[in-house]
Amino acid sequence: MPHQHTGPDPAPEPDATQALGASTKRPGGLQRMGHLMATRCPRCYKGPMFLHNPYNLFGMGKMPKQCPVCGLDYEPEPGFYFGALFISYAIAAPFCLLLFLSLNMGLGVHFEAALVLVALVQLALAPYLFHLSRAIWLYFHASFDPDAV
Ligand SMILES: [Zn+2]
Repeated sequence: MPHQHTGPDPAPEPDATQALGASTKRPGGLQRMGHLMATRCPRCYKGPMFLHNPYNLFGMGKMPKQCPVCGLDYEPEPGFYFGALFISYAIAAPFCLLLFLSLNMGLGVHFEAALVLVALVQLALAPYLFHLSRAIWLYFHASFDPDAV
């Protein structure tokens, strides 16, 4: 029985390669999330948003006026970061509630002990949350620009 060709060669898929090219130019959501968590500039993903790490208690709130890499204005208007307070609350409240319920009802930790543990975890995470909520707020207002640098 002669060998039969099973069919035409698969046609090249220009759409798929185009999409691949586009994705290298414009990073996906997960990558954006990574830069956000690292509090990098939302436009170039390179410049740091803060001068110090969040656990430097004397310098935790200090931000450069603009991105040192692409020049994005980090404070477009006075009081710009007021909205970040709501972001911070929107993250912290459900997180604390979920942690408390997991400890108290899930693991059977005593009510008062669970409250103290939640307070300690919240205290430990607060400085990072302060940075993160400002970063989220700025990410709402600026998007990635591959030609920014
Ligand atoms: Zn930048």
